[in-house]
Amino acid sequence: MASAAERPAAGIERRGSGGWDSVLDTEGYRVSPGNEWRSELWRVAVTQFNQAADLLGLERDARARLLEPRRAVVSNFPIRRDSGETQSLTGYRVQHTFALGPTKGGVRYAPGVSLGECAALALWMSLKCALLGLPFGGAKGGVRCDPNRLSAAEMERVTRRFASELVPVIGPDQDIPAPDMATGEREMSWFMDTYSQHVGQATPGIVTGKPIVLGGTEGRKAATGLGATICAEAMMARLGRKVSGARVAIQGFGNVGSVIAQEMQARGASIVGLCDVTGGLVNPDGIEVEEALAWVDENRFLRGFPGAAEATRAGMLETPCEILVPAALECQITAENAGRLKCGLIVEAANGPTTPEADEILAERRIPIVPDLLANAGGVTVSYFEWAQDQQRYSWQAEEITERLRGHLEAAMDRIDESAERHDVGWREAGQAVAIARVAEAARLRSIYP
Ligand code: NAD
Repeated sequence: MASAAERPAAGIERRGSGGWDSVLDTEGYRVSPGNEWRSELWRVAVTQFNQAADLLGLERDARARLLEPRRAVVSNFPIRRDSGETQSLTGYRVQHTFALGPTKGGVRYAPGVSLGECAALALWMSLKCALLGLPFGGAKGGVRCDPNRLSAAEMERVTRRFASELVPVIGPDQDIPAPDMATGEREMSWFMDTYSQHVGQATPGIVTGKPIVLGGTEGRKAATGLGATICAEAMMARLGRKVSGARVAIQGFGNVGSVIAQEMQARGASIVGLCDVTGGLVNPDGIEVEEALAWVDENRFLRGFPGAAEATRAGMLETPCEILVPAALECQITAENAGRLKCGLIVEAANGPTTPEADEILAERRIPIVPDLLANAGGVTVSYFEWAQDQQRYSWQAEEITERLRGHLEAAMDRIDESAERHDVGWREAGQAVAIARVAEAARLRSIYP
């Protein structure tokens, strides 16, 4: 006779395995929740999430709801190259949660873009918005391509085709894209125009990071870098140190890294290391940022800049400095190099630049971190201001934007301080705990439909 555990519960039809036993027994099936998103970055995101969720004692059901992204679009589409040839590309958009509002997140063009990478970045966007108290869930998207090998005309065709693939799932009240790696005002203009052509009316609120004349906002271009600098200053003050006179090394000299270099130098810091995809530069006496920017304007990359000595990309990260700012890619600080870093503070302008294994080493070495959730939140915060202005058809002054940005970041830092003290942890876990508690509360209150 079947035991109680084997007997089907009343009302549940028992169909057996239907011959699927071999599938059900495989390792892949048993760990299947999260399988779709599996990637190194997803592993990092889940590890960080679970560490903070443990602090909160978050129940299994709530974890499961927050860890699986709500929706993903994978789209394979052709574009025509300038040569006349056709090339097939793959684009992704992952929408993590709608619990707090429409989703929001950047669009990146890079050779490593994948579903798993977008899923991790979308989860972090949800947490970032929650930490900052913004009325959004997180999203992230991108196209797997090498933007350095595409002409401006090809970039436009990629952007317009990708935007039109997403039309059914995005909208000013559904999901609002923004710039990320290799995308900026130009791509957002094409994106906004493509969506507007599809729906038959100009819709500025469909993207943020647009030029001001198209409904963009004062301060968006510099927002991520400025926000990172404000957070670095605040953390330095908590450590009893100053940005003025500090040596700063920055990995990445694009939208974010170049603004941080300018803002730090304007505050009296000395930029002793810079780096982009072509290699690193070091100068213990300080690199003139305006000269480096002019060089990049003319030559596209930092390589060959005469105002500093050449270094390898990996070597630049180990430059002695008070503040190290990863502002390029994910997983740059790992168990392999964390022991060799010679910095006093890490400010994570990039998303996910530090692995959990490196986190442990840095904690042992007592090197504090301003985590990505906070350090690069200036971008989405000013994106929120842009979206709010688009919804109101009313624009705010530049000073108002800067003041409101500072206010949002300081309020988030107060929340992190409080959480760090309560749980006796560093800023990463403290920030994640604040954010997870907020999203979990929203999901709990909305309950389950139907
Ligand atoms: P970007 O494309 O403008 O610049 C990226 C920079 O990184 C470039 O200088 C590039 O040459 C360099 N780079 C690329 N590969 C590298 C490598 N292997 N080693 C060293 N440098 C390399 O991108 P961005 O918008 O400045 O974004 C940088 C980071 O900041 C990303 O992690 C992104 O997700 C994050 N971020 C950006 C924004 C935003 O508003 N743009 C907002 C939040 C977070």
